[in-house]
Amino acid sequence: MKGLAGKTALITGASSGIGQAIAIRLAQEGCNIVINYRKGAEEAKETERLAMQKAPRSEDGSGVKTLLIQGDVSKEEDILNMVNKTIEMFGSLDILVNNAGIQKECPSHEVTAQAFDQVLSVNLRGAFLCARELIKHCLDRDRPGIIINVSSVHEIIPRPLYASYTISKGGMENLTKTLALEYAARGIRVNAIAPGATITPINQDWIDNPEKKAVVESHIPLARAGTVEEVAAGVAFLASDEAAYITGQTLFIDGGLTLYADFREAWS
Ligand code: NAD
Repeated sequence: MKGLAGKTALITGASSGIGQAIAIRLAQEGCNIVINYRKGAEEAKETERLAMQKAPRSEDGSGVKTLLIQGDVSKEEDILNMVNKTIEMFGSLDILVNNAGIQKECPSHEVTAQAFDQVLSVNLRGAFLCARELIKHCLDRDRPGIIINVSSVHEIIPRPLYASYTISKGGMENLTKTLALEYAARGIRVNAIAPGATITPINQDWIDNPEKKAVVESHIPLARAGTVEEVAAGVAFLASDEAAYITGQTLFIDGGLTLYADFREAWS
């Protein structure tokens, strides 16, 4: 896609699922990729291996390069280290994908302050702090930048038992819009993608259970869960120059999940 080759992209939580697919797709588009992982260096290396398989070949060593960085996005010092190391190695950071995310199932009246804070500090505060660092870097060097937040259909659909998760994703919508508006004139575009039910480890409990999977898919107008590659394609588009005039938006990649499938048949 236009404008991606030679750019440097940092993807948080890139050792599995959607983050891994995004890293692979951006490498395929010719981006240098920084693979952040919290734990599981082996899985991060697997992301690197798969990404390099897809990356365009170059004979002279000028092709796609990778950097693996361990770091917890709920820790400010880890974020600073991640961004500094990226700039040290590549000279710039052009694209940030705030993908790292966790969810915890619990009735809202039993959620502890600590559990609530943990979800918010990874999903929302972590995304904000990573965005802040990319923005500082772009402003210091007067260069454009791109931020893509991995939100969720739960940005707009309430989800009982997952209050902290839905609050974090709802907050992400305003994080996206506020930063987009604040920095548009400085050439920084900020968008979000909102996956629906996607086949990744975060959904292992229903993926492995045919009955639960059928229930999940019954709510999806396109009648199936999404793939990580379908989500990554949306990120590549928003990061590319094809989306040069798009900022402050959430792109729902959900098979129509947010169309209220219960209205498929006319109610009378
Ligand atoms: P996943 O569990 O495979 O990926 C989450 C990644 O975040 C993991 O690699 C994990 O190690 C990493 N992570 C967790 N805490 C971290 C921390 N403190 N610091 C750094 N990394 C951390 O699941 P996934 O489905 O690929 O989720 C990726 C994103 O997509 C999440 O933000 C999730 O909310 C969002 N999402 C997923 C779905 C879905 O159906 N799979 C739907 C909507 C949104």
